[in-house]
Amino acid sequence: MCMSKTDYDLCVIGGGINGTGIARDAAMRGLSVLLVEAKDLAQATSSSSTKLIHGGLRYLEFYEFKLVRESLREREALLKIAPHIIWPMQFVLPYSPQQRPYWMIRLGLFLYDNLARRDLLDGSKGLQLIGTGLGVPLDDRYKKGFSYTDCWVDDSRLTVLNAVDAAEKGAEILTRTACQKIIPHRDYWEIKIKGENDQEVRTVTAGMVVNAAGPWTRKLLEQSGLDKGMKPVPKIRLVKGSHIIIPRAFEGDQAYILQQKDGRIVFFIPYEGDYTLIGTTEEDYDGDLYEPRISDDELKYLVDAYNTHFKGEIAAKDVLWAYSGIRPLFDDGDSESRTVTRDFVLHQHLESRAPMISVFGGKLTTYRVLAEQTLNKLLLAQSRREVCRTAFNPLPGGEFGPLQFGALLDEYKSQYPWLPEEVVERYARAYGTRTDRFLRGAKAPEDLGKHYGDWVFEAEIVYLIKYEFAREVEDIFFRRSKLGLHVSEETMEAVGKALPKLKKDLLG
Ligand SMILES: Cc1cc2nc3c(=O)[nH]c(=O)nc-3n(C[C@H](O)[C@H](O)[C@H](O)COP(=O)(O)OP(=O)(O)OC[C@H]3O[C@@H](n4cnc5c(N)ncnc54)[C@H](O)[C@@H]3O)c2cc1C
Repeated sequence: MCMSKTDYDLCVIGGGINGTGIARDAAMRGLSVLLVEAKDLAQATSSSSTKLIHGGLRYLEFYEFKLVRESLREREALLKIAPHIIWPMQFVLPYSPQQRPYWMIRLGLFLYDNLARRDLLDGSKGLQLIGTGLGVPLDDRYKKGFSYTDCWVDDSRLTVLNAVDAAEKGAEILTRTACQKIIPHRDYWEIKIKGENDQEVRTVTAGMVVNAAGPWTRKLLEQSGLDKGMKPVPKIRLVKGSHIIIPRAFEGDQAYILQQKDGRIVFFIPYEGDYTLIGTTEEDYDGDLYEPRISDDELKYLVDAYNTHFKGEIAAKDVLWAYSGIRPLFDDGDSESRTVTRDFVLHQHLESRAPMISVFGGKLTTYRVLAEQTLNKLLLAQSRREVCRTAFNPLPGGEFGPLQFGALLDEYKSQYPWLPEEVVERYARAYGTRTDRFLRGAKAPEDLGKHYGDWVFEAEIVYLIKYEFAREVEDIFFRRSKLGLHVSEETMEAVGKALPKLKKDLLG
């Protein structure tokens, strides 16, 4: 389908949620696609989010009605295509007279319920907290509140599954391969790429390019000399956000959303069964983009947030793990990082007759819409029209319908009674209907190959290498899964030792 004789119709730079979403959409429209990712898929911002597919209740305060409406629509669309890694979550919003007025919250929730059509998710309601289970963990000053429903997502798996689907539709996905430079020609683009283990830089050509390098979007343009185009290139605002993980702080599947003294909100979310996730912060950032770390101030802020609203008391020493990510926001010139828009801007470059777009800003929640609009723009520039189908085809493993996870789990539990229930549930959540690909035919744990410890078997690791682009221990234990939070050092070491041979056997 190449217009001129290029190696690919489209080259996508960046394997975060936006890059992989664009690659999937393009491959589904029949384009030949190359995606290059400098590290692992979802290595940067797309594994460091609060992990919500949400309208963003707080953005209503900044009159971001278009963004909220689009995000609310996407909640249901994404729940339908990925019902294994996305599920509804109830959010409890306690009311306190010292914070936003009651009528304002009621009005906000009314808009949230009605800005977009809702088929699957419950609307909001008022709640009594005092004397009820939902109120138990909270400070006694909270007598009543509200609840509403948004969705939880495994962010790094959402990214990986978009890449897997793109590859199954013909896209070439090269991880650990950096784009060094993008060079315009009259009718095509030349892209210089180099793999981690390559001696030489390689040149590929493409009829279209998307720069979806997240926090590195501007840097890549600068190193390609494309930052001072005929049309002003937008600026990027880098805002760090951190989360802490503590031992499970309350019973139940509900999350809490609580307003802080500075007007910001912090989420308290049940995480990975045994833990509570608390976040996030917002701090302008100019440090190392691959190694953002939680600062002492952020740690104190999140610990204080818990202690202010909950009956229990925690200290910094109770924090088991923390992670930070960089929001690559479109810089709209706003002075406060919390009020900078979360909407995205697609910047079209004019250095070639062949189209190129750089992505600025966005949210996980709107990645599919962002991809659809990017492809529409690129194809329009070439007077072509192929229809977007990403909202109708499930992501790999998601072929069982929204809100049907219980039925899938029961089926697997009865099919594999020799596996502990929590292991079956972990597989079903991560792999959905693809669980069969490595369990089918197995009658006992020995049939799953070598056991590395903690119910981690060779069959799953082989699946991750073969189909999900996993190459290193971190890929397996912190991005394809969060097993790293549950298993022993010995188990991770055993997998690490086995990896070189497995990779050689499977990948050559
Ligand atoms: C703390 C925090 C909380 C958030 N919470 C939510 C939330 O709950 N819900 C929500 O909807 N959104 C949330 N977001 C926003 C969301 O996470 C981001 O919008 C999204 O992940 C950005 O994805 P991306 O693909 O643009 O960037 P990234 O995920 O950063 O991907 C860019 C990729 O490009 C690669 N790259 C860079 N340079 C090159 C190069 N030269 N060659 C090849 N590859 C390159 C990088 O290695 C990286 O993997 C949150 C963000 C943060 C930081």
